[in-house]
Amino acid sequence: MLACLDLEGVLLPEIWIAFAEKTGIEKLRLTTRDIPDYDELMRGRLNILDENNLKLADIEDVIHTLSPLDGAKEFLEWLKSEFQVIILSDTFYQFASPLMGKLDYPTLFCHELIIDAEGRIENYRLRQSDGKTKAVSALKGLNFQVIAAGDSYNDTGMLVEADAGILFCPPDNVIEEFPQFPVTRNYEEFKNALLEARASLSG
Ligand SMILES: [Mg+2]
Repeated sequence: MLACLDLEGVLLPEIWIAFAEKTGIEKLRLTTRDIPDYDELMRGRLNILDENNLKLADIEDVIHTLSPLDGAKEFLEWLKSEFQVIILSDTFYQFASPLMGKLDYPTLFCHELIIDAEGRIENYRLRQSDGKTKAVSALKGLNFQVIAAGDSYNDTGMLVEADAGILFCPPDNVIEEFPQFPVTRNYEEFKNALLEARASLSG
């Protein structure tokens, strides 16, 4: 049985929100919690970066100041002792890689930024659209049972696709639209929900 976990909002703070706070650009606070269409969200972000002449290095400066959420490292250690774990994220390797050491290098599947010679973020390359859902579907095709967990709209596809889904600290609109998933609000509740999901799947 595999546990597939979202990254930002579950183990790490939201990188774009941290960057919005640092730059004071309010519009960069929008995340998949607010805009379900990921392409629309990312096109908007890249336009804002260009308008403000911000480059990858400016975002990296903020990323290097970030740490995992309180208790996240211990939670992930526990999770790895109970399940095989894959992190399925809509972030980019350039953003997440500097933080992976702080989580003891879990397996991470995410996307890639295209950076030009001046360090400007020119574009982004999705591994595939709706990659989280497709990854879960492919893992099920390898005869794994999958428990998926996340906090946002962009996780709901993989939660639906998985054998069991769990929400962690989700916003109210996601809870309302997806009432079928248990809602957890701290790592203790999260652990219990994962164990319950496993018990009901093996039962
Ligand atoms: Mg998230």
